[in-house]
Parts: sequence; structure tokens; C-alpha cells
Amino acid sequence: MKKANLIMLGAPGSGKGTRAVALCEVLGIAQVSTGDLFRNNIKEGTELGKLAKSYINKGELVPDGVTAAMVKDRLSKPDTAGGFILDGFPRTLAQAEMLDKILAELGEEISYALYLDVPDAEIIRRISGRMICSECQAPYHREFNPPKSEGICDKCGGKLFTRDDDKPETVKKRLEVFRSTTLPLADFYGARGILVKIPPELSERGAAADMREVAEKLGLCAR
Ligand code: AMP
Repeated sequence: MKKANLIMLGAPGSGKGTRAVALCEVLGIAQVSTGDLFRNNIKEGTELGKLAKSYINKGELVPDGVTAAMVKDRLSKPDTAGGFILDGFPRTLAQAEMLDKILAELGEEISYALYLDVPDAEIIRRISGRMICSECQAPYHREFNPPKSEGICDKCGGKLFTRDDDKPETVKKRLEVFRSTTLPLADFYGARGILVKIPPELSERGAAADMREVAEKLGLCAR
């Protein structure tokens, strides 16, 4: 059995967040989402949040150094010791190299990088229905993963909203950034022999069943 120190790679709207949440529940490991960490900082009005907002609202990436420092701080918390899934990090080759350094300092290494390979047309369709809980950040989708009552989070009762950066012009820019800057990471982890491609829909059974199958195939151990 392998310890689950995972990276989830995928374009915005590829189902990265939903899959990451499902895998964390299946394996009992910590989810580390840089997008969620930035959004929490924005909500709380921290200095980091103010800085991040100026990039996020334009569909651009927050500078590597700032992002890596935030990840290092998060990976130093005890709940990640039994395994973690990085959702939305690394997004550049420089960040991947920074991650290697951070993990070496912590005596950890990545077991697999999971890549959600989703065509552009499908991504646009997925993003157009996306919603997120304003309290616990749980992801929903009008078509694929609707809440039980409209506009309300099933898990905590929080109000659901559509992210500002899910507007069509910003999505286009985010997809461009993904292709030019993040996609090369598939080759980076492929060369290490730890890249695992996951198709958009493995079955009709939903994200949890899909992720259980992936975890079993890869021999990942649950906490
Ligand atoms: P996400 O929720 O992962 O789609 O992230 C939303 C936005 O947060 C991105 O479009 C970026 O502006 C910013 N962001 C998230 N993760 C990173 C990262 N690893 N590096 C730089 N910016 C990031």
C-alpha cells in the first residue's frame, strides 16, 4: 500500500475540486486547495487575500512565491501527515520545483499526480453550471451535482453562489493560462512515472465510486 500524497491536475471546470473532495472522503486524507485558501483569505480581508484578489479576478495566477509560501504553511499542519491531495497546486513548473523543496524539507514525496483529461467543449458546459457554498466551499453543479434544495448547501445550509472568475471572459483567460502554463506539468510528472490520466466520467456512479476505484487500482492506503 502507498501513502496518498497526491496532486490533482486539471483545467478549471474539469471536476478537479469535486474529485478531490471525493478522494479525501474515500481515503480520509486532507484536501489542500489553493483556490479555497485564497478565497478564504479574500473573505476574511487579509493582506494575502487583497493581493490574491487582484490576480484572481483577472483570471491570472497569483505569483509563485506567494502561493508556495501559503502551501508550505498548510502542509506543515498536522492533518496532512497521514496524506493529502493538492488541488490547484502546482500550476507552473516553478511551483512544481518549489513543491519538491517543500516536501523534501518535510520528509515527504508525491505518490501520484492525477490528471483529469477533459475536452474544452465539456469544460465550458461544466463551468456554466458551477456553484459553490459561501460557508464551507462545497462544490455543486446545476446539472451534474445539484443541491437537494435550490441555492442551499446540503452539508452546512450555507448559501450557494457563482464565482466571479467563472464569468465567460475570465474562463477563457483561465483556460489559456492552463494550456500554456499548467499543462506542461503532465509531462513533468509523466517523466517521473507518476502521472495517472483519469477520464472525465469513469462511470455513472458518481465521483465517490470513481475515486474509490482509482484509489484501489493505485493501491493507495486509507487512513
Ligand atoms: P481554482 O479554485 O483552483 O480554480 O483557483 C482560482 C484562482 O486562484 C486561479 O484562477 C488563480 O488565480 C488562483 N490560484 C489558485 N491556485 C493557484 C496556484 N497554484 N498558483 C497561482 N494562482 C493560483
